[in-house]
Amino acid sequence: MEDRILGLHHLTAIAGPAQRNYDFYRHVLGLRFIKKTVNFDDPSTYHFYFGDEVGSAGTILTFFPWEHAAQGRPGTGQASEIGYSVPAGSLDFWQQRLAAHGVAVGPPEARLGEQQLSFRDPDGLPLALIVSKTPDPRTPWTTAEVSADVALRGFHTVTLTLADPAGTAQVLTDIFGYTLLEQDGARTRYATDTVAGAALIDLLAAPGTPPGTVAAGSVHHVAFRVQDDAMLLRLRERVARSGLSITPQIDRQYFHSLYFREPGGVLFEIATDNPGFMVDEPLAELGTHLLLPPQYEKRRTQLEAVLPKIS
Ligand code: ZN
Repeated sequence: MEDRILGLHHLTAIAGPAQRNYDFYRHVLGLRFIKKTVNFDDPSTYHFYFGDEVGSAGTILTFFPWEHAAQGRPGTGQASEIGYSVPAGSLDFWQQRLAAHGVAVGPPEARLGEQQLSFRDPDGLPLALIVSKTPDPRTPWTTAEVSADVALRGFHTVTLTLADPAGTAQVLTDIFGYTLLEQDGARTRYATDTVAGAALIDLLAAPGTPPGTVAAGSVHHVAFRVQDDAMLLRLRERVARSGLSITPQIDRQYFHSLYFREPGGVLFEIATDNPGFMVDEPLAELGTHLLLPPQYEKRRTQLEAVLPKIS
């Protein structure tokens, strides 16, 4: 199949207080804070981006932090766990580091032949650190406390919990070019061989489970990667031809996007590599300024006054 999806682009979730979210992902997990901007649909709310040095697709986790967000309810039609790839031998370090920061974490567990640590972020968002069966060649961002031998490489897999995975599986295989890799009980893993990381999607069947609600501690949408605008528009055609309704192309300042709700209820996005995170900040200064899209620049003073201070 031509124009196969190039793995995950980013994942976007809802958080509670901005400072707590910033501290957890930047300090505890050691990700690079690559962009501080606002929710383009609600500019009095931040949009935070965490990733590797340059914000490579497949490493980008973004949040809309709301100071007084209600808690989401887990259920079907949702991404229910974000799995990060970590190196072999790093799980002891992470178990100790997470426990030292007050995170409830048990010993490593096995899933589909891989070892992982499961825990939740401060808002209850389920996360896993997974030692991949196949070596992960991606270069991680490192900090004084999280060195290269333990640092997160980017996404390993995202788990989607679905009342009936059939329609979602069909989107992955027939439109996105993924193939079924393995199955264990209710979990089926799909993979693309177009990329070396962020190449997996797990579908978890939960028939009879009610739909979840999206609020703090839950994933808002799952974004898949394409190279450029031409490929984005060809994918748009393919999604539309399958009978699903899909938005026109939207400019997200750092990438160009399309959105559609897949048959299992999860909001999917398809996003381009271009123009990338250096479009409005040099590499060395990523994440250090409050960046506003042109339509909000004239409201900067007012927005700076209402957005919580982050230190
Ligand atoms: Zn997105």
